[in-house]
Amino acid sequence: MDKIARIDMGAAGGPKITTEPVGEYAGLGGRATTSLMINKEVNPLCHALGAENKLVIAPGMLSGSTGAMTGRLSVGCKSPLTGTIKESNAGGQAAQVLARIGYAAIVLEGKPEGDDLYKIIVNADGIKVEVDNSLKLMDNYALVDKLRGQYGDKVAYMTIGSAGERLMHAASIACTDPELRPTRHCGRGGVGAVMGSKRVKAIIIDDAGCKHRAPKDPEKYRDANRKFVEGLRKHPVTGEGLPAYGTNVLTNVLNEAGGYPTRNFKTGVFEGGAKLSGEAQAELETKRGGTPTHGCHRGCVIQCSGVFNDADGNYVTKQPEYETVWSHGGHCGIDDLDVVAKLDRMDDDFGLDTIEMGVTIGVAMDAGLAEFGDSDAAIKLMEEVGKGTPLGRVLGSGAGTTGKVFGVEKVPVVKNQAIPAYDPRPIQGIGVTYATTTQGADHTAGYAIATNILKVGGDVDPLKTEGQVELSRNLQIATAAIDSTGMCLFIAFAIMDQEETFQALLDMLNAFYGTELTGDGVVELGKTVLTAERDFNKRAGFTAADDRLPRFFYTDPIEPHNQTFSVSDEELDTVFNW
Ligand code: SF4
Repeated sequence: MDKIARIDMGAAGGPKITTEPVGEYAGLGGRATTSLMINKEVNPLCHALGAENKLVIAPGMLSGSTGAMTGRLSVGCKSPLTGTIKESNAGGQAAQVLARIGYAAIVLEGKPEGDDLYKIIVNADGIKVEVDNSLKLMDNYALVDKLRGQYGDKVAYMTIGSAGERLMHAASIACTDPELRPTRHCGRGGVGAVMGSKRVKAIIIDDAGCKHRAPKDPEKYRDANRKFVEGLRKHPVTGEGLPAYGTNVLTNVLNEAGGYPTRNFKTGVFEGGAKLSGEAQAELETKRGGTPTHGCHRGCVIQCSGVFNDADGNYVTKQPEYETVWSHGGHCGIDDLDVVAKLDRMDDDFGLDTIEMGVTIGVAMDAGLAEFGDSDAAIKLMEEVGKGTPLGRVLGSGAGTTGKVFGVEKVPVVKNQAIPAYDPRPIQGIGVTYATTTQGADHTAGYAIATNILKVGGDVDPLKTEGQVELSRNLQIATAAIDSTGMCLFIAFAIMDQEETFQALLDMLNAFYGTELTGDGVVELGKTVLTAERDFNKRAGFTAADDRLPRFFYTDPIEPHNQTFSVSDEELDTVFNW
């Protein structure tokens, strides 16, 4: 990954491509590259859908190598949803392929005049940008099918559906999985709208003729990778729970803990939880000829994904994630996995964040647009988004906008981004992360569920405030570093519990780059990324007053623990004191 390509979509006479050496971003990857570049090059006061914003697409530090779990792709920009800096990452094949061609980043800049739509073709010979108005308003499944007819099956596709083209703030960027399905999404923060604002519909990445990236010390890399994989296989979460049931293994766990937000955060237990559980989902998938165990990119050994078929055995969608099953399920009072799978398919097809959309529909139900539990109404609301009707555009703008338009008082968002599937009142640690992360409400930014609920990496009582700030701080630092490596975040379970697996990860990085990175170095990397992100947000006008949860989490106790969120503002303001 020795070069960076910049594509000025707004250049006079049509898009202009320049390539430069990787320079100051050498040795970095993923979130480190996107966040440092956005902080340096983008005016924090710009309009997120304007010419001044940039979309940085960066494979991780180890992407494109033979290492396990290294297929994560980061996309960075100023978010139209939150107004903050944004890093949104996904699996699929794009990171591996882009890294093998040698790009540390592709940067989309400027904004074209007119309404032509473009596709970008990246291969070993260079980059081409072509007008293709035949793709206008196509959704992801048909779009990828059409592109496959032209570019074949040995490439990776990054695409936006109609939601991204319509600049909806919940729009995602889809990356194809090994079977060329557009199922892996850079979902959060409206990154698809930023790609849409540049009028880029598809990026086709073809690594024909390119080899795996070579480590500085191949033997040490192979050895470290073997130990790393052994560690993942022996940990109960990464070796058993996730491969057998996927992330949806969490439905029963969160429901039993009383932390499963139900019907727009009104109670912490959903009576239909068992019907939505990972156990029920895996059984159904297996019975219908799908599978509960599948890797979203080649080289994944955890394989938390799967294939969800309908009752006739026909493919519907990838195995919906826990957060998707929750947002379209319990959050809306719906207990039917087939309905959730249909909504997940619609999200992927239109190109939308499943968390934002599920939470939005629950907020719309709270506003009286439909009854909680009404599956047909939920599907109809999603159809409005796909058609781009005025109501659909409101919904596609996310939960915050929908709450304002329909006068809903209790809207679960932080920095205008929907709060995911874990209630912060009975799980105080995740509340600290939601409130303070640079990204707007985001469970992955500092997954306190691990230690509060799953007892991975220690044991901090979820109902108490003690220890939560330190926990969230450490997790946010570690996550910012992991998001830079190209590793899937789920490796965190094994490296938090098993010192030798963390050491194996360090050994992989050092064997690859010829460095002597220590645990302290990883912490420094995480802090560097967070510091850049905080700097951007501060210059964009965010203050400590924005690092808070919505008021109702402080005033409305939730059953069954009868608990409010009670970490003080003063404590929240110390999360980034290091
Ligand atoms: S563990 Fe799951 S999300 Fe992570 S790389 Fe594998 S399939 Fe993708």
